[in-house]
Amino acid sequence: MERTLVLIKPDGVERNLIGEIIKRFEENGLKVANLRMVIPSREFVQAHYAVHKDKPFFNVLVDYLAEKRVVAIVLEGEDAVSRVRKIVGATDPSKAEKGTIRGDLGNDSKEKADAERRSIYNLVHASGTREEAEEEIKLWFEESEILE
Ligand code: GDP
Ligand code: MG
Repeated sequence: MERTLVLIKPDGVERNLIGEIIKRFEENGLKVANLRMVIPSREFVQAHYAVHKDKPFFNVLVDYLAEKRVVAIVLEGEDAVSRVRKIVGATDPSKAEKGTIRGDLGNDSKEKADAERRSIYNLVHASGTREEAEEEIKLWFEESEILE
């Protein structure tokens, strides 16, 4: 069974979309294997997004999540990584397909975010590959919290 990590980012928590977002994964047959609300430190967010450390948006991306309420979720199911990415939709909500979380519920764009020198507010993070998923699950959860 494949696992992946989803984060409901601070805009999702602030806009009261936790239930709506989790419902979309559950309705698709994905299992919530663990879930927790976290207020990550800057250092923790930097570790989570280490792959982006040389990107121009790295610092504003860290500002977006650090010291704010985030919901960390482990989802389990066949092809969980790619299925979850499909349900989430494209990075820029203004370009994300209808029927996806970012396409239906997102209200931001890359253009607006870059002009305002902040991260794109797009409600959720989802692991990009199986390897990233395993790394990220280890970062956010203790091994004893996850059933094999
Ligand atoms: P994701 O996998 O779809 O979340 O996208 P990435 O891994 O490429 O980027 C991580 C996060 O950084 C995104 O979800 C956005 O919040 C933010 N981000 C990505 N690209 C840009 C950009 O070009 N400009 C700004 N302002 N933020 C960005
Ligand atoms: Mg990514």
